Amino acid sequence: MGKQLLKVVLIGDGGVGKTSLRNQFIHKRFTNAYKATIGADFITKEIELDDGKRVSLQIWDTAGQERFQSLGIAFYRGADACVLCYDVTNFLTFEHLAKWRHEFLKQAGIGDSNPDFPFVLLGNKIDIDERVVSRRQARGFAQENALVTGARVEMPCFEASAKDGIHVEDAFLYIAKTVRIP
Ligand code: GDP
Ligand code: MG
Repeated sequence: MGKQLLKVVLIGDGGVGKTSLRNQFIHKRFTNAYKATIGADFITKEIELDDGKRVSLQIWDTAGQERFQSLGIAFYRGADACVLCYDVTNFLTFEHLAKWRHEFLKQAGIGDSNPDFPFVLLGNKIDIDERVVSRRQARGFAQENALVTGARVEMPCFEASAKDGIHVEDAFLYIAKTVRIP
C-alpha cells in the first residue's frame, strides 16, 4: 500500500464553524473574527497513526458561499470522505444536513452507487451553554440515514468546540484511521 492521501471536504451552513474547526485542527488556533473564507481551498496535514502508517489529509473548506450552495464541482470531485458540520446551538443548521448530504452525493457523482461512502457528523460549539441539538438527535440522524440508504456502517457522530480545541481532532483522526483507498 502506498502513502495515503485523502481528500476530505467540510460542508454545512455558513457560520457553523467549518473554517474554525480546520484552523484549530491544523494550527491549534482559534480567532473570533468572522471572515468568510475567500475561494475554496485546501490545506494538507500529515498524520502518523499508531501503527506508524502515515496518512495525509487534504482538507477542503468552502469559500463562504454556502448560502448559494454553489461550491463548484472541483470542491466535491474525488472526495474520499465528507464531514457534515452543524452548530449544536442552532437547530436549522442540523436540519439542513440532509440537504447538504444530498448535494454532496450529487455533486461528487456518487449518488446511490455507494451507500457506504464515509460521512462523519460533527456538531460544533459545545462550549456554548445553549445547546439545542442533543447527542440523541445526532445519533437519530445517523441511524435513520443508515436505514434509508442501506449503509452497512452508521456514520459516526462527534461533538467538538473549535473555540476551546475540544474533540476537534477526533473526527479527522477517525477518517485517517478508517478510510482506505485502494
Ligand atoms: P464557517 O462559516 O462554517 O466557516 O464558520 P466560521 O469558522 O467562520 O465560524 C463562524 C463563527 O462562529 C465565528 O465567529 C467563529 O468565531 C464562531 N465559532 C466557530 N467555532 C466556534 C466554537 O466552537 N465555539 C464558539 N463559541 N464559537 C465558534
Ligand atoms: Mg468558512
